Amino acid sequence: MSETTPLDILAIAAHPDDIEITCGGTLIKMAGKGCRTGALDLTRGEMGTYGDEKMRDDEAARAAEILGLSYRQNLSLPDSGIEYTQSNKLAIAQVIRNTHPELVILPHWRQRHPDHLACSRLGYDACFLSGLKKAALEGEAFRPRKIIYVSYFRNTDYSFMVDISDEFEQKCRAVAVYQSQFGQTSGDKIKQALKSTLNLPDLIRSGGKNVFQPGTGIYDLMHTRAHQLGQMVGVEYAEAFTIREHILIDDPQTMPVRSM
Ligand SMILES: [Zn+2]
Repeated sequence: MSETTPLDILAIAAHPDDIEITCGGTLIKMAGKGCRTGALDLTRGEMGTYGDEKMRDDEAARAAEILGLSYRQNLSLPDSGIEYTQSNKLAIAQVIRNTHPELVILPHWRQRHPDHLACSRLGYDACFLSGLKKAALEGEAFRPRKIIYVSYFRNTDYSFMVDISDEFEQKCRAVAVYQSQFGQTSGDKIKQALKSTLNLPDLIRSGGKNVFQPGTGIYDLMHTRAHQLGQMVGVEYAEAFTIREHILIDDPQTMPVRSM
């Protein structure tokens, strides 16, 4: 994965596994349509209770294969210490110049974890900076055409959903490679699932390690969430995104999702 890989889509997130959990289905789907997709992780997740940097690097590389990414880079900023600074904005902007993504996916600005919030703000500013000719960056000025913000559980101001019914199982498989994070309570079951075709119902039942709330396993959370979002738009599973602009429609008659 060279540093100058041209991409169609670049997803930026604070920690390895954030991208898989939030917009992994959309990235799998877009790669399947022939888009060149990439991920920029800002930290190595070294402050996490479980696993070390090497383990998490290996997991991220394996997950990248499952997502079908053409590029994955890590800026090695301090985990739980991402600061909103000019040098961090420039570091991200340099990646944007190197990869020329038409579309950038950032975390939504409503966040529980301060790193996620910092990532959202830094990512937006980096997209802007990358387009300034006089910015202290290498390469030609470039600005992505579109920024979309993926939902991280806290916000409900969705602008649109992406149908990931066909990609949901693969998304779970990408998350399941993060054994250091989610495999502790049900590792054997997940290892089994990874060896052959993932048995989704078993994986969801296994729960995986609890996240956010005691008793809420990661796979259960992902399943409930994607299914609920899907039901809102009449598909099995979906991921939700917010944009700051309005959507322009040519023919309102062809808009998907029934009103009644
Ligand atoms: Zn995170």
